[in-house]
Amino acid sequence: MHTQVGIIGGGPAGLLLGHLLHLKGIDSVILERRDHEYVIDRVRAGVLEQFTADLMTQTGVGARLHQIGMRHDSVYLSFGGRRHLVPLSELSGGKAIYVYGQNEVVKDLMDARIATGRPLHYEVSDVSVYDIDTTRPLIRYHAGGAQHELTCDFIAGCDGFHGICRPALGDAVTFYDKTYPFGWLGILAEAAPSSEALVYTCHERGFALFSMRSPKITRLYFQVPPDEDINKWPDDAIWDEMLKRMTTKDGWKPNVGPVLNKNVTAMRSFVTEPMCAGRLYLAGDAAHIVPPTGAKGLNLAAADVLLLARAFTEFYKYSNSGLLNNYSETALQRVWRAQRFSWWMTQTLHLSPEGNAFDFKRQLTDLDYITSSKAAMTSLAENYVGLPMDIEF
Ligand SMILES: Cc1cc2nc3c(=O)[nH]c(=O)nc-3n(C[C@H](O)[C@H](O)[C@H](O)COP(=O)(O)OP(=O)(O)OC[C@H]3O[C@@H](n4cnc5c(N)ncnc54)[C@H](O)[C@@H]3O)c2cc1C
Repeated sequence: MHTQVGIIGGGPAGLLLGHLLHLKGIDSVILERRDHEYVIDRVRAGVLEQFTADLMTQTGVGARLHQIGMRHDSVYLSFGGRRHLVPLSELSGGKAIYVYGQNEVVKDLMDARIATGRPLHYEVSDVSVYDIDTTRPLIRYHAGGAQHELTCDFIAGCDGFHGICRPALGDAVTFYDKTYPFGWLGILAEAAPSSEALVYTCHERGFALFSMRSPKITRLYFQVPPDEDINKWPDDAIWDEMLKRMTTKDGWKPNVGPVLNKNVTAMRSFVTEPMCAGRLYLAGDAAHIVPPTGAKGLNLAAADVLLLARAFTEFYKYSNSGLLNNYSETALQRVWRAQRFSWWMTQTLHLSPEGNAFDFKRQLTDLDYITSSKAAMTSLAENYVGLPMDIEF
């Protein structure tokens, strides 16, 4: 078998790349190691930047986003027992964020892929890549009890942080890594959201985040040690801690309801430089990880694959490799800006176990400055809704 672009990984990055390539008439094969339901059911991102929403809309996969997604024009920062509104749209020339679960994004992209009839193979195993320094790189994998070989013009490594593509880049890459001394305990709860906007809380007990997935489902997080055992947290104890951290002096608090899902996620910042070697190009979490505080991971994956789709299009249309040669450098500029913002949000809102009372006071002063200075608030808004990105390709 041969294809133009062999895509390893059928998460948001792989599916969106396949979709964009299809629109330009470029062949691809998507290989995913999990089954279809597992990929849909994975509870992860929920905040889309304006550019990601625009890209989905403009490429024909935005119908449900506009039906059931929620546009948010503001966000709250909560500290000292009070919520402070940050008017995102007013400060960013009308841009907004969209609360729309990663599950829904993945469903939209899977439906679009299936409608094209182009190959999307689930439950493949033992995926490996060869000959990336030649013009015919090769993917080997097992599926349906047989071994398969797929030659490609290019390989796109969209296989997430634990995939096989990043290690296949070889030795000429540098990894930049930072782990944080905390993680997030997250729950999905059957409870109507009690706030129209997300609420980021910096409390003396630690960080907490109020978010939502639909008019009936709330998504909440609080800071815990990175290796926290979720079994130590019965639902009542989780709600008790959520309410202690989030309840404000005016009596605002989240609505309580049955917990549908709970887990602990450790946090890290990670960047691979360059994001390619030979004809293997990484995109999304395969190349970089951000702590979820800035809500950037899925959006960075979308930005990467837009750049890649543009570069492949230029290659096939004009036999020009210029954009492919510049892919890593161009993508990394946005990646590092998102890293900086995600790190800044994280260290401003979380309590470090190495910190002391001075640090907490400094953090509160930071938040006080942000919410009282239009210049500071504008910088937050500009980054949170997403830095400018041209969606033409
Ligand atoms: C708790 C949490 C909250 C988050 N909140 C946000 C948010 O609000 N906003 C935001 O933008 N981002 C958020 N993120 C980050 C976001 O979920 C990720 O950045 C996003 O999933 C990246 O997409 P991806 O396709 O690059 O990688 P993934 O989603 O990891 O997809 C990679 C795919 O490759 C498959 N795969 C792996 N290895 C192989 C192999 N060898 N062969 C074939 N297939 C393979 C995997 O099964 C997977 O389906 C959050 C993440 C977490 C954990």
